[in-house]
Amino acid sequence: MRSTTQIALQYAHRFYKFRGEAQYLHGHTGVLTIEVEDSINEGVNMVFPCNEIKKTAWNVLKNFDHALILREDDPLLPAILAVYEQQGIRDGAPQNTLTGEPFRCELATAYPECRLVVTKETLTVEGMIKIAYALLKDKLNIVKLTFTSGDNAATQDFKAEGTMDRCPLCGVAMDENGVCPKCGYRKK
Ligand SMILES: [Zn+2]
Ligand SMILES: [Zn+2]
Repeated sequence: MRSTTQIALQYAHRFYKFRGEAQYLHGHTGVLTIEVEDSINEGVNMVFPCNEIKKTAWNVLKNFDHALILREDDPLLPAILAVYEQQGIRDGAPQNTLTGEPFRCELATAYPECRLVVTKETLTVEGMIKIAYALLKDKLNIVKLTFTSGDNAATQDFKAEGTMDRCPLCGVAMDENGVCPKCGYRKK
């Protein structure tokens, strides 16, 4: 069976060198739907607690929220960094507290201190799905990702990757020592 959660991300981007309005900087509220598949954990009668899926994904994906997402070859990138530098906010600001775990994968690098994500490819809805999967596939048994942003939407199915050992009392994934990181239950 599947557990599903949704995450809303507000971001600014543009399609560098694209022939259309999207070549100008603009913003969206995007919604990522994450579907996780596993057996039903008998102890709690659920696949996975949806708020835990959301927490795991949000820890990483909040780097995209209220962020600027630019392709690595976009000349806006050095221009914006120069302004942030001049303003003294390039390396962080006291009001910039909603920062996620900084990540680096083949397709994107996050700079949470200045709310910037630099991507290898143009950040279309398809591009977001590729990045989100790369960042979350080792943390969650993802079988489907859907990303919608304005009139654009993309969806991709992924192969289920076995089963995860989950706590029979609270449903979260057990750590490598067979202990629940949330409630302390120890596997006998
Ligand atoms: Zn757009
Ligand atoms: Zn537990």
